[in-house]
Amino acid sequence: MAVCETCGNDYDMAFEVHAQGAVHTFDSFQCAIHAMAPICEHCGARVIGHGVQSGEHWYCCAHCARQEGSQGIVDRVMAGMSG
Ligand SMILES: [Zn+2]
Ligand SMILES: [Zn+2]
Repeated sequence: MAVCETCGNDYDMAFEVHAQGAVHTFDSFQCAIHAMAPICEHCGARVIGHGVQSGEHWYCCAHCARQEGSQGIVDRVMAGMSG
């Protein structure tokens, strides 16, 4: 049995997430996202997709990155489609 590190649920279908050398245990993707997904620094949304990274900063989309003053940020999906 494993205990979810987000909510403490003792669940026999819990799974492990290996990230940056550490192992995390969760009972659901919701708890994994809650614990591990970065938060957009502009609007506060959980970044569950690819998101936009600008240096040490995370945003949910290029729009939010631009609102925070990051220049030259484009959504990766759009960048990939333009080539
Ligand atoms: Zn949980
Ligand atoms: Zn955002």
